[in-house]
Amino acid sequence: MRLILIGPPGAGKGTQCQRLAGMLQVPHLSTGEMLRVAVREGTPAGRQASTYMEQGQLVPDSIIVGMVNQRLQSPDCREGCLLDGFPRTLSQAATLDELLERQAMSVDGVIELAVPRDELVRRMLARKREDDDPEIFSRRIVSFEEQTAPLLDYYARQGKLASIDGLGSADEIFARVTLAIERFRARSRRR
Ligand code: ADP
Repeated sequence: MRLILIGPPGAGKGTQCQRLAGMLQVPHLSTGEMLRVAVREGTPAGRQASTYMEQGQLVPDSIIVGMVNQRLQSPDCREGCLLDGFPRTLSQAATLDELLERQAMSVDGVIELAVPRDELVRRMLARKREDDDPEIFSRRIVSFEEQTAPLLDYYARQGKLASIDGLGSADEIFARVTLAIERFRARSRRR
């Protein structure tokens, strides 16, 4: 299964993806994590990306797309993968469709974790990551609302979107996520 998790910063995509990766036995591809590793290792891509990340802005596609494409072609992704943090714009979604098509693959389902803004801020204050400065965090929320939220409509039109309430315990949310995946499976069996 090839699934995408979409949600604002702090929605809990990472936590849910880790659990899902164990359940589905497919790799968890987090572009945020790939970028943080590249920054730590001081690679050319990492050096370019860090200025954008520090400001809560999206890193240019020229950096992201190559990274994701390379990862999608690795053998462990043949049976599927969980995409976390990519695509983040309509243009990245179109690119992803092309990349997958070339390998005769497609996106099976998209899960939105919906969380209200005041809860996101509360969680951010509790977790404290390097790019979690309050001002930068709100810029990432705005970037989500302006650039990423339109993807929900893009996938809804394709009948691929499941929107899930992201409030509650990690266990409760995981139960909702697995239910959505069951529905994706039932749908692909009917095809
Ligand atoms: P969050 O979803 O909590 O904002 P991520 O870990 O997914 O955090 O991403 C951290 C940062 O990495 C983003 O703020 C952005 O600068 C960069 N980034 C991650 N994925 C992408 C992407 N697909 N396109 C552009 N920039 C990205």
